[in-house]
Amino acid sequence: MKKILIATRNNGKLREMTAALSKLPVKILSLADFDNLPDAVEDGKTFEDNARIKAKFFHELTGIACLADDSGLEVDALNGEPGVNSARYAGYHADDGTNNSVLLDKLKKVGVEKSTADYRCALCFIDDGVEILTVGKIDGTIKISPRGNGGFGYDPYFYINDSKTMAELTAAEKDLISHRGEALRKILPLLEALNS
Ligand code: IMP
Repeated sequence: MKKILIATRNNGKLREMTAALSKLPVKILSLADFDNLPDAVEDGKTFEDNARIKAKFFHELTGIACLADDSGLEVDALNGEPGVNSARYAGYHADDGTNNSVLLDKLKKVGVEKSTADYRCALCFIDDGVEILTVGKIDGTIKISPRGNGGFGYDPYFYINDSKTMAELTAAEKDLISHRGEALRKILPLLEALNS
């Protein structure tokens, strides 16, 4: 059976990507299945660049077909921040809690309690001689009052309408509308075609 390595250490992403890929006749691996793999240097300027960097890096290290996600939040009142630095908004040892605190501090500094925003996702699949890239996006509003315990990252602050955040959706509901769900729906038939 063919294998696909989901090249992420983010458990939220891993959950969402594994659920989508479970429809494929392949064995899904994650970076947790390997000891001592180094991290890729994500120095691209765009989500697409960084997804490609990660997929290529882990494919070259392991020889296994790799699927990488690079994604993040873009807040209009913050000129598109945190963008490609979403995972590291609070620095290299950031976690969701510290990143969210930095987000709230920055919004306070510019004096807004809400702002239009979007999430973007780029997915890159790399195998020998194959490269596939797809993208997805969802528009919403960032507000300083969190709601819900689902999802991950900035989800409790990302409102999909006036009263509901991404963190109040079930996994299936999030997948239907999210940036990652869109990019996954685009890449799945292409991966299916490779494996048929
Ligand atoms: P990456 O690992 O460099 O692609 O950064 C991804 C970061 O973007 C995550 O750590 C989150 O902070 C944020 N992010 C991406 N997708 C989502 C999502 O679906 N919900 C909430 N935050 C997300």
